[in-house]
Amino acid sequence: MDNHEEITLTATPSAPERPGQRKRGLARNNPDQCTGCGICVKSCPTGCITIIESELNFNGVAHIDDNRCTGCNICAIDCPWFAIDMLNPDGSRRDPSEYAKQAHRLRGYH
Ligand code: SF4
Ligand code: SF4
Repeated sequence: MDNHEEITLTATPSAPERPGQRKRGLARNNPDQCTGCGICVKSCPTGCITIIESELNFNGVAHIDDNRCTGCNICAIDCPWFAIDMLNPDGSRRDPSEYAKQAHRLRGYH
């Protein structure tokens, strides 16, 4: 009689992405340009930006939590120092002209 049990290894399924998560890409901070002013921290609707200590800047620099960033463009629009780039879902850089209309709306223009 065969006492060996056959063990089947199955891959652990990855967590399903929440609806909308990463659909629109990700924000990327450029620490060299970041002044640590904190404006993006206040404007991010998901609260995924914090200011962390950095040798580059006395004030610190912005750090973006990729897992919570929805790629909404708002921080890139609001950053006065153009220190945030937006990435498309395929990893390519999103040209700011692609969210120019959104920027106009956020600033109260129609
Ligand atoms: S793109 Fe939107 S969600 Fe992502 S860090 Fe910027 S403001 Fe927050
Ligand atoms: S708004 Fe721009 S300069 Fe200010 S902390 Fe955010 S990324 Fe840095």
